[in-house]
Formats: sequence, C-alpha cells, structure tokens
Amino acid sequence: MKIIVQKFGGTSVAGLNRMKQVKAKVEKKLKKGYKVIVVLSAMAGETDRLISLASDFSKNPDPCEMDVLLTTGEQVSVALFSMLLKDEGINARSLLGFQIPIHTDRSYGKARILEIDDEKLKKLLERYDVLVVAGFQGCDFQHNLTTLGRGGSDTSAVALAAALKAEVCEIYTDVDGVYTTDPNVCSKARKIPKIAYDEMLEMASMGAKVLQIRSVEFAKKYNVPVHVRSTFKDEPGTLVVKEDEVMESVMVSGIAYDKDQARITLVDVFDEPGVAARIFEPLAAHNIVVDMIVQNPSHEGRTDITFTVSRKEMDTAIEIIERVKGEIGARDVFYDPQVSKVSVIGVGMRNHSGVAAIAFKALKSENINILMISTSEIKISCLIEEKYTELAVRTLHEAFGLDKEPKMEQ
Ligand code: ADP
Ligand code: ASP
Ligand code: MG
Repeated sequence: MKIIVQKFGGTSVAGLNRMKQVKAKVEKKLKKGYKVIVVLSAMAGETDRLISLASDFSKNPDPCEMDVLLTTGEQVSVALFSMLLKDEGINARSLLGFQIPIHTDRSYGKARILEIDDEKLKKLLERYDVLVVAGFQGCDFQHNLTTLGRGGSDTSAVALAAALKAEVCEIYTDVDGVYTTDPNVCSKARKIPKIAYDEMLEMASMGAKVLQIRSVEFAKKYNVPVHVRSTFKDEPGTLVVKEDEVMESVMVSGIAYDKDQARITLVDVFDEPGVAARIFEPLAAHNIVVDMIVQNPSHEGRTDITFTVSRKEMDTAIEIIERVKGEIGARDVFYDPQVSKVSVIGVGMRNHSGVAAIAFKALKSENINILMISTSEIKISCLIEEKYTELAVRTLHEAFGLDKEPKMEQ
C-alpha cells in the first residue's frame, strides 16, 4: 500500500473555494495510486477566535475545557472536507484524534504525542481511500481531549507519516516553501530547495512558524521526508531531509525572529551556590520554558540574573519570582515584554569563524542595541527591542548575502 500524508493549514481550508483546491491536490495523489491521509487545521483565524471567546467567559480558562473548545475548530474542517470528497464519490471519512486514537500525555494545550494506533489506521485504509484526520488534537489515556500547541497540526501530520511509514509528509501552506527568512517580512527572502532537519529545527525553534518545532523533531527522529509547499501553486517547495542529503553547505542558511519574548531581571541576588536552582526550579515545576539566561559578574557578593520566557508566561513567571525573591536576596525584579529575538542559523557555522562579528556589525550599522546574546553550534541569537525586529531581520539577511544564490562551501 502506497501511503502519503498531506497536511493543509488554516488558510488552505478557509472556505469552500479553498477546500476545492485542496480536493484537487488529494485527487492528484489518488490518481497516482496512493492512499491519502489528509490532516487539516481549523479554518484561518478560528483557533484565535475560540481563544478570545474563552477569555470573554473566564479570566483564567480551565486548560482541560480549553482543549475541548479548541478541538472544535479542526472538527469543523474535517467534517466539511469529508462531505466535499464524498459528494465526488471519493471513498473517504473523517477521523477525530480520539477516534484513532492519537494518545498524548495530559499537558493540556501543549500535549506530546505518545502513541498512535497505526494498525487501526491501516485497517481503515483497506476500506477507505482517504482518511481526513483532525490535526492538532489527541486524547490522553483517560479519554480527555488534548491539543498539541499552536501550529500542532504539522506535528499530527508528521507523527501519522512516521507511524504509517508514509512515503512523504507534504505540508501545504500559504507560502511555497521554507525561505531564508519570513517572506512576509523580507521581500528578498529566497526559497531554500533542501534544508537539513537540524537547521529546520533551529529555524522553527527560533520562531519560523512555517513548521511547528515538534513536527521537525518527529521528522528527524523517524526520518520522515517532509515537503513544505504551496496549496495554491504546483511547483515543488522545500524538502526537509537528513543533513548528508543536503547538497548546499553554506555558512548561514536563514534568519528567524520570535516576538513571543519577555525579559526578566533579578537585581543583586546573592552570589552563592544554589541561587540559580532556587530561581529556575520553581519555574520548571510550573512548566515555564526559560530561553536565554545571563548572569553578570559578581559585585560585593551580589549578582544580577537576566532570563527570557514566552511573553504569555511572563506574569506567572514574575509571580513565582516574587515568592522566592526574599530567599535569594533579590533587591528588585525588572521585566520587559517589548523585546524580540532575532537568530542567524546555519550548519555551516560549525566550520566558520566570524559569523557573530558579521551579525553584530550589521545590527550596529542600524544602531540596534543588543540586549542579550545566546549561541549554539549552529545559531546566534540576539535579543533586541521589539520595534526593530523587521529592520534587524532585513539587515542580517543582507549582511549574510542571503538574497543571492548560495556559494558552495570551500
Ligand atoms: P499554516 O496555517 O498553513 O500552518 P503558518 O501561518 O503556520 O501556516 O505558517 C506559514 C507562515 O510562516 C508563512 O505565511 C510565513 O509568514 C511564516 N514564516 C516564518 N518564517 C518563515 C520562513 N523562513 N519560510 C517560510 N515561511 C515562514
Ligand atoms: N489550529 C491550530 C492553530 O491555529 C493548529 C494548527 O493550525 O496547526 O494553532
Ligand atoms: Mg502552521
């Protein structure tokens, strides 16, 4: 049985006409003899609408009920699309996450997929040519509905492709591939024909929302070839594959940005063993992801610690810090939610020096102040004032010559 997974994002399913274009993509694969797993998102804007609706009803919506609410968006898409296929005589049916089931842990709102009943799916594929699966959702082992975090339909699709050993997982979206940076921010961005899993992982982790981070982790772990492409065009998009399959090895392959950042500074905490643990343990216990951390040199037995968290978790993080403030001797707590992170990414950085210097010089040329820096083997990230995000992205894109065809590594 030849199986293919095709995932269509929110803009691709926003209304009847767009769904007809999706239908054409599915029919093309059916004609080639594939059994097709179609994974759909909620219609564009629907998840945001539901989140805002919930906030009218509750100041702090119950996470479990929130997931019951949010899963309805994808439920509408799969029901309507299945009707469309059936009217054409296509042997299809819809499937919600819990019907498969796609089992997850119980972290409502950011659940992780634990297992998928692939045997049941294979049996269904003997009876149906197309299974239309609701993305972004699953259930825990007690049958509670869960969601996989924003952009989670990508992860549903790749996980299904891995479970069914599908030939490829196609991610159809409103751009025709992965670009050197967000094409909606930088008109000179270039489409990347092939990108390595690790590079894509960094791009996604650093804010390129074209693929959800977990979907790339799954793809890498199970070696699923992912093809990011446009619903509205026919040409090939970007293949996300193993590093050795990537022909071009360039120093820098992309620039990403993330506006979902907030900076918290603890002033004059005791400079002694255990203080960092007393700050970061309770944050971890509340599932708050801390990103950059900087500790300043000690002055008279005291030091400043600055770190970043997701903007929506800033208030909770501050509440937690206020509770431990006394124990760690912090004289003050400052915070700033108007910051963003820009990152320069490339596996080629492993073998090149001077990348950071080029990035810093480029930011300086536009008088953009760097608030924090963090690096890994294949990326450099700078925290800056949010208002400079787009300018920083375009400046870095140009400084690394990303608007031009890449030169092969020497
Ligand atoms: P979907 O609803 O189809 O899942 P998303 O909005 O989640 O689509 O992801 C596609 C968007 O990702 C694009 O419209 C684009 O603005 C953004 N994006 C950010 N970085 C990149 C990048 N490097 N390449 C392509 N798109 C990017
Ligand atoms: N509908 C969800 C969201 O908007 C999941 C997805 O589209 O992937 O985040
Ligand atoms: Mg998405």
